[in-house]
Amino acid sequence: DDAVDPRAGDEERVVESALRPHSLADFIGQPKVARQLDLVLEGAKRRGRPPDHVLLSGPPGLGKTSLALIIGSELGTSVKITSGPAIERSGDLAAMLSNLGHGDVLFIDEIHRIARPAEELLYMAMEDFRVDVVVGKGPGATAIPLEINPFTLVGATTRAGLLTGPLRDRFGFVGQMEFYETADLERVLARSADLLGVELTAEGSAEIAGRSRGTPRIANRLLRRVRDYAEVRADGRVTLEVARAALALYDVDDLGLDRLDRSVLDALVSRFGGGPVGVATLAVAVGEEPHTVEEVCEPFLVRAGLLARTPRGRVATEAAWRHLGLAVPRGGVP
Ligand code: ADP
Repeated sequence: DDAVDPRAGDEERVVESALRPHSLADFIGQPKVARQLDLVLEGAKRRGRPPDHVLLSGPPGLGKTSLALIIGSELGTSVKITSGPAIERSGDLAAMLSNLGHGDVLFIDEIHRIARPAEELLYMAMEDFRVDVVVGKGPGATAIPLEINPFTLVGATTRAGLLTGPLRDRFGFVGQMEFYETADLERVLARSADLLGVELTAEGSAEIAGRSRGTPRIANRLLRRVRDYAEVRADGRVTLEVARAALALYDVDDLGLDRLDRSVLDALVSRFGGGPVGVATLAVAVGEEPHTVEEVCEPFLVRAGLLARTPRGRVATEAAWRHLGLAVPRGGVP
């Protein structure tokens, strides 16, 4: 069911680590971010100082974590990984920061979800490489400033708009990750097939890439599922026929929509006359959490030109009616 969910499950992260690119040269696509980042890293290496803090923003599964790890390996430093929601107390963050070695990379995933006190601690750490360590409790508590090693913070966010101004301003480089072109996804697939020892034909690859919603994580996941199918039901080779049959079995349609996407569109069209309707109402209609509909389904439906976000609510486009095999309403869509 989760074939095209761009977020990774815990088990999947383990499988994924085998497929991660390890250098910028190995990193496929995202030409703009990759070229800019290359320059930032090269400049820092020449100056012999850690590069500016880096913010990577964009939907899940596009390679933000991979890039954070690549920054570390390009600089030859180690990368410590945490996430906004995992930092419960600012003391935990202070300990983490003071344990960083000179020039290390600290990667904070979902940085928009960091708690306010920890965020404030981060300001001073990012700017002056200092943290305030609070000693004692109550009125007698004192803050002792502690020097930390110069480091590079790499923050990742799926919702750059939710970042506070002061935090955003402290990043010297902001990379906006874009959905991948199909040709780039085919290159991702070729590389992954090689690493997994899977025989993948050009047509099979194009078929999987076309249904991967511009997202390498989904491309790799579909490749693994299609491979399973190829091994069990065919001779192990991933051909066009095998890819089509397997993806049909997993309910991924020719645009990469899964059952949830289609039920969102279907509800929008058949229950709300194509909209406009609020996302919360729409989510209830399909029995999903609003944030799943908003963060998992919508970005892709919008990009595929099937759904529009308007001030009055969500609207199905003409393409949505056609994709569901329905006639576009006579008076046009709202
Ligand atoms: P994010 O942090 O944005 O959610 P990840 O960096 O975890 O995304 O990437 C998800 C998976 O997709 C990784 O396992 C990696 O193998 C693959 N991937 C992402 N971007 C690329 C790329 N540019 N080239 C090759 N593989 C990639």
